[in-house]
Amino acid sequence: MLEIFLWISLLAVLRIGYQIIQQRRCPDNYTLKNLTKSRWKNTHQREYQRVISHLGLCEKCTKRLEEINFGKNLEDHLVD
Ligand SMILES: [Zn+2]
Repeated sequence: MLEIFLWISLLAVLRIGYQIIQQRRCPDNYTLKNLTKSRWKNTHQREYQRVISHLGLCEKCTKRLEEINFGKNLEDHLVD
């Protein structure tokens, strides 16, 4: 009986670990570009949720998203 409980616990831990790894994976430019399109959002709800959670953790992707949606980075204009 205890053995079954241990297996269930192990599976739960593995599933949480998998979700964390998935959340940490950086999305590609295509996904970031589609993020603002409501049609893509409706057909890729799971991926959309994952990328939104990822953006909360990853500064690099937040910056990439800004660059994709607003063209050149503001800092580049200030360098000259
Ligand atoms: Zn990222």
